[in-house]
Amino acid sequence: MGPLRNAYLDALGIDRWVRRNAPAEVSAPEASAVSVVATATVPAATPLARKAPSPDWAPLPPTADWGVLRERVAACVACDLCKTRTQTVFGVGNTRADWLVIGEAPGADEDRKGEPFVGAAGQLLNAMLLAIGLPRETVFIANILKCRPPGNRDPNPEQVSRCLPFLSNQIALLQPKIILAVGRIAAQNLLATDAPLGRLRGKLHHFGEANTPMVVTYHPAYLLRTPADKRKTWEDLKFARATYAKITGGGNAPGNG
Ligand code: URA
Repeated sequence: MGPLRNAYLDALGIDRWVRRNAPAEVSAPEASAVSVVATATVPAATPLARKAPSPDWAPLPPTADWGVLRERVAACVACDLCKTRTQTVFGVGNTRADWLVIGEAPGADEDRKGEPFVGAAGQLLNAMLLAIGLPRETVFIANILKCRPPGNRDPNPEQVSRCLPFLSNQIALLQPKIILAVGRIAAQNLLATDAPLGRLRGKLHHFGEANTPMVVTYHPAYLLRTPADKRKTWEDLKFARATYAKITGGGNAPGNG
């Protein structure tokens, strides 16, 4: 474990462990410590009530063009959030990334800048990703919603059902090898469940038609309020890293070296 990673573990507030008989520079447990990559189905829970699209609205057919998709998002008036947004927040990062990070919705900073996770939670997300060797620009980052809910309210079912086709289109274009869902809203909506986050983390899920492996962890904004859960987040991140290594045979992929 190098000094850079140690610095990011410190930023995460994660204690570094030193084995009693280990050489001085060996500190935290490595990915190999996560020996079991569990496969589990979504735990039994009430399926999340997905709002049926109203008859006067239908999503556009998916596009194969990132530019077209970006324009569609920017022009979207499918729900009431278009009236209060400063701008849409499409997503950011490497469109050839293996890793897709999915959060909830833009906050005030993101609405102003047009980029996801640029506020305090974004700084922590960057540290979380770097702790597993992923500089922010090597992954793709998107949200369930492309517009900010005023007052940072939880997205409502209609907003989610009208916005999810954009995320599905992004996933179809990106074809990520792994999805990291951060926070309850992202996890519950992607998995169509109302199971609490504590029951969704620590397991390997699969998303969508491509069966993309998906790992769930806490939202960085929650971790800023509840630093005690950073240790569990570090376990989730190591689990995601080990899962990715298993999928790719341990090699580095384009954009994720
Ligand atoms: N929280 C999120 O879930 N997404 C953002 O883009 C910013 C904060």
